Amino acid sequence: MEFRDLKKQYQVLKKDIDASVQNVLNNTNFISGKEVIELEGILANYVGVKHCITCANGTDALTMSLMSLDIKENDAVFVPTFTFFASAEVVALKKATPVFVDIDEYTFNIDPIDLEKRVNQVIKEGILNPKLIITVDLFGLPANYTEIERIAKKYDLLILEDGAQGFGGMLNNKKACSFGNIATTSFFPAKPLGCYGDGGAIFTNDDDIADYLKSIRVHGKGLDKYDNVRIGLNSRLDTLQAALLQVKFKAFIDYELDAVNKVYEMYNKRLKDYVTIPFIPENYYSSFAQYSILLKTKEEREKVQKHLKENGIPTMIYYVKPMHLQKAFGFLDYKMGDFRVSEKLSDIILQLPMHPYLTEYEIDIICSKIIEVL
Ligand SMILES: *Cc1c(COP(=O)(O)O)cnc(C)c1O
Repeated sequence: MEFRDLKKQYQVLKKDIDASVQNVLNNTNFISGKEVIELEGILANYVGVKHCITCANGTDALTMSLMSLDIKENDAVFVPTFTFFASAEVVALKKATPVFVDIDEYTFNIDPIDLEKRVNQVIKEGILNPKLIITVDLFGLPANYTEIERIAKKYDLLILEDGAQGFGGMLNNKKACSFGNIATTSFFPAKPLGCYGDGGAIFTNDDDIADYLKSIRVHGKGLDKYDNVRIGLNSRLDTLQAALLQVKFKAFIDYELDAVNKVYEMYNKRLKDYVTIPFIPENYYSSFAQYSILLKTKEEREKVQKHLKENGIPTMIYYVKPMHLQKAFGFLDYKMGDFRVSEKLSDIILQLPMHPYLTEYEIDIICSKIIEVL
């Protein structure tokens, strides 16, 4: 059994993917081919924003977004501590200061109450300029934008939506990657919409930001690559990736999103009396980058994970160590006990196999094995 079955997906889509890749091989426009522009149009239209700017990966998408918002030294950037390293890494890379925020214990997304508390702390200390909130749509579920937008407005903060895991999700029928001032996603193979290597994209309604991003992804180009008007980087999505992403995107909206939501329901039905199942609040729709369960204790999680492994069932732990306890952020002087919910969850959360091609039979086996060991 696979945790996320990319082989099965390829077998289903093989004919169309092979044709799209072959077409690029014939044309040899490997960098900035027409498939890239086409894909950007398709994704912007789907998400419901004016501009999609693809780039080399989800981390670059975040970095470029911070550059476009002019995030710099002495700026405080509020980031959930329970996320993938990149969400906070890019802040420090730009010499700004990550200010960690705890998560809501039901949705696992940034907790608006703790957010407001930490914004007030930064204001009270008076050392850093509160500038930006990086929300993360964790495991496929959009963050609580209703509350976050209220807080951003109240304290005059910008919002960057890190939608690396969130593409395809919705809140009140508004699509993930359309929230905030700017939004990013990742096409890393295991993300909801993945390519066959690294890839990423940025979404915005702002024409000036879009122009700026198109410039910095090609060495700060002006008229062309040899007219350089600012310091940029080299961060483009390969034409090959854009071509096959068009095929994968079609499957994604045609049936894959539905399929993962069906898997979610099947898991829930079998597991709800034994473990804590994911909570999707009303008017929210998840693209289920992950299906997470909570066990009662760390020991119980170990027992379940071991039993599943012995039966050939792969599981993962996202995240075993919150950002404030990572050595790389040691300079921020956080300590154990600073983020109660994130620390608790890191001990008891467990992710089960989740992808659109998981069968009812496989789900049955996974659930039986969990129930058996409990
Ligand atoms: C995967 C991920 C990223 C980084 O994306 P890459 O394409 O791997 O660079 C950023 N933020 C979150 C929340 C992620 O899960």
